[in-house]
Amino acid sequence: MSGSSDSEVDVLIVGAGPAGLMLALWLSRLGVKTRIVDKRTDKVFSGQADGFQIRTLEILDSFGVGERVWKEANHMIEVSFWNPDENGTIKRNNTAPDNMPGMSRFTECVLHQGRMEAFFMDAIAASYPHPTGVPPLKVERMVLPTSLSIDESKADDDDAYPVTVTLRHLTEEEATPTQKLSNLSDGLFRSNLAGDDVEAMLQKSEARGGAREETIKAKYVVGCDGAHSWTRKALGPDYEMQGEMTDYIWGVLDIVPITDFPDVRNRCMIHSASNGSLMIIPRENKLVRLYIQLSEVSTGQGRFDRSKITPELIFNAARKIISPYKLDYHYCDWWTAYQIGQRVGNHFSKHDRVFLAGDAVHTHSPKAGQGMNVSMGDAYNLGWKLGLVCKNVMQRSILSTYELERKQIAKELIAFDHKFSRLFSGRPAKDILDETGVSMEEFSKAFEMSHMFTSGVGVDYSPSALVSKPEEQRLIPEEDDQEIKSDQQAVPSNAQSTLDLATHCKPGTRFPSFQVVAQSGARPWQLHHKMPSDGRFRVFVFGGDVSQASQRDLVNTFAAELSAGVITKAPKASLSPGADPHAGTLRFKMDQPPSVIDVLLVHNAKRMEIETLRDLHEVYHPFDSKLGWDYDKVFVDGESYHDGHGHAYEGYGVDPQKGAVVVVRPDGYVGLVTSLDEAGRKEVEKWFGGVLRMA
Ligand code: FAD
Repeated sequence: MSGSSDSEVDVLIVGAGPAGLMLALWLSRLGVKTRIVDKRTDKVFSGQADGFQIRTLEILDSFGVGERVWKEANHMIEVSFWNPDENGTIKRNNTAPDNMPGMSRFTECVLHQGRMEAFFMDAIAASYPHPTGVPPLKVERMVLPTSLSIDESKADDDDAYPVTVTLRHLTEEEATPTQKLSNLSDGLFRSNLAGDDVEAMLQKSEARGGAREETIKAKYVVGCDGAHSWTRKALGPDYEMQGEMTDYIWGVLDIVPITDFPDVRNRCMIHSASNGSLMIIPRENKLVRLYIQLSEVSTGQGRFDRSKITPELIFNAARKIISPYKLDYHYCDWWTAYQIGQRVGNHFSKHDRVFLAGDAVHTHSPKAGQGMNVSMGDAYNLGWKLGLVCKNVMQRSILSTYELERKQIAKELIAFDHKFSRLFSGRPAKDILDETGVSMEEFSKAFEMSHMFTSGVGVDYSPSALVSKPEEQRLIPEEDDQEIKSDQQAVPSNAQSTLDLATHCKPGTRFPSFQVVAQSGARPWQLHHKMPSDGRFRVFVFGGDVSQASQRDLVNTFAAELSAGVITKAPKASLSPGADPHAGTLRFKMDQPPSVIDVLLVHNAKRMEIETLRDLHEVYHPFDSKLGWDYDKVFVDGESYHDGHGHAYEGYGVDPQKGAVVVVRPDGYVGLVTSLDEAGRKEVEKWFGGVLRMA
C-alpha cells in the first residue's frame, strides 16, 4: 500500500445503499484503502427495492453472493396480463415468460434489499485478511460529509490526494428517520415525495453542540448517496438532474394477501377499466408487493396532497382494481409512495476525482425493477477501474470511460422508463378507434421487447480504449448520443472481419456463459465460474482442435509470444485475497501473485488426446513454487459425464476451424475479439498497451 497517513484514503464512498456497497465490495476484494460512510443508523429497514435482474445475479455470482440470493429469493417465472373485457370486468388475456428463455442460467428473482445488503456485508468481511494487509472495510454509520473541495492543480497527479472532505459524526437519535405511523415501517423518508433531511440532521447536531468532525484527504470520492445526493450538490450548480416529473403517483404495499385472485403468485399487470392499474410482484415469505396508481392524491400539474397517503388509501385503491376478486390482509410489512419522474445527471464525474453513481445520477419509476440493478451496475463498472488505478495497474485515463459507459445506460434507462411508465399508467383503450387509450397488444409487445434491456443482458458499451469495435448505431436517439460520441477517446477499432470470429461475443457486451468441461478432472463448469470478480483481465483462447499439430502450434505460439510480451510487461500487483467463490477459498499463499492477465484455453479436441503439461505452453498451466502447476486453465467444449454437452463454440459463435481470441475486462465485458495468428497477437498487445501501465 501507499505510505498514506490515517487521515488519507484512496477512496471515500458516501452512501451505503446498493451502489455504495457494490463499490465497497470491489474495493475490498482488490485491497484498496477505502472508507464508506452513511448518514443513517441501520435501524429502520424493510421494503424498498426487491427485484434482481439476470445480469445483477451474474455479477453477484462472480463475487460468490449470487447463490445466496438465488436460494432465498422468489423466482419470477411467469407474467400475466389482465385487462377489462367488453363488460369492464378484468380478465386474464395473456401469459408470458418473465424472462426470455435461454438468456442466462438465472432468471429474475425477488428478495428485499435488506437481505441483499446483509449478503454484501458478509462478502466484504470475507475479503479480509487481504494479502496487501489493508485494514478491513466496515460501513461507518451515522456519519455524513459537510464539505468537499478538490485541489484542481493536483487532479492529474496519480499519487495525489486532491479531494478534502469534512465528515460529521451524528448520534443515533439524529440519524434515525421519522416514520409516519408508529406501528409500521414506511419508506416515505426515502421517497421522492419527501424532501432531503440532511439539513435537519445537521441542525439537530449543531443544537446539541460539540459534534465530532474530522477532515480526510482522498484520492477519489464517490457519491452513492441516492436521489437527493449531497455529493452532487457539493460539486456545484453545474451538476444538475435533467428531465421531468409526471402527474402519476404510485403507492407500494408489501402484504401477505388473503385473496381468491388466481394469479397472485405470478407477476401481474392489471389494467382496470376505470380504477387505474395495479402490478403484483410475488415475493419471498408469502409476501406480495402491490404497486398501485393513486389517482386520489394527484391534484394535476405535478401537484399532489401528501397528507392523504396512508396504507389504507393504497390498499383500497388496489381492492377496486382487482374487483370482482376479493383482497384482504392481516400482515403488512412496509409501504411507501412515490411520484414518477425520469431524470439523468448531466455529469457523472468531476475531474475524474469525484464520481456519482446510482440514484445520485438517475431516477425513474421503480416498476420495471431497474433502479437498484442499474445503480449496482454503475458501481460494478466503476469499482474495478478505480481499484486498478489506485493499485497502479491501469492508466488513470481509463476512468473517463465510466461516464462514457454509464451515462449512456442511464439515458437508455430513462428512454425505456418513459415509454414503459406511460404505457403502464395510461387508461386502457376501449376499442381500436380509441386513440388516447393504451392498446393492450402494444403494452404486452413493449413488455416482451424490453427483456434484453430490463434483464441487463442487453448492455452494449460504446467504443473506447476498453472496447475495440467500429462506431455503430445505438439504442438511444442520435441527438442524445452526440454528447457521448464527442466524449470518446481516439481508439483502435478492430475490423469487422475479426469480430466475425466470435459472432456472439460482441465487444462492449457481457461475455456470455456456456458449459465447458475441465481438461483435468472432467468437471463441467459454466465459463462464468472461471471469471470471478478479482480484478484480472481474461484472454480466452478458442483453440479449435488442438490434437492437430498445426492447430496446437498456433495456440502454443500465440501463448509463447503473449507470455514474452504483454504478460511479462504487465504490472505486477496483489489483487484479490485468492478466494475463488466457486472453487472454494484458496487457503494457501502463492509464492508470487498471479498475473493480472489470466489466459484460459477452450479447445474442442477429444479430451483424452491432450495432455496439458506435455502438449500445451506453460501459459495454460502456470507454475508456482508453493502450489505447483495450475490445472484450472484448460477446458473442452465436449460431452460431460452427467450434464450433457454445453456447445460452447456454437454459443460463442466460434468456428472451430478458425478459432478466436476474446479479451474480457475484469467486469466480464468483451474488450476485443481477434484472431489466433500474429496479427491477432499484435491486436492484443495494442489493446493492453492502451489500458495497463506497462513496464
Ligand atoms: P439509495 O438506495 O438511495 O442509497 C443511498 C444511501 O446513501 C442511503 O443508505 C442513504 O442513507 C445514504 N445517504 C444519503 N445521503 C447521504 C449523505 N449526505 N451522507 C451519507 N449518506 C447518505 N430498484 C430495483 O432495481 N428493483 C426494484 O424492484 C425496485 N423497487 C423499488 C421499489 C420502491 C418502492 C422504491 C422506492 C424503489 C425501488 N427501486 C427498485 C429503486 C431502488 O431502491 C433504488 O434505485 C436504489 O436503492 C438506488 O441505490 P443507491 O445506492 O443509488 O441509492
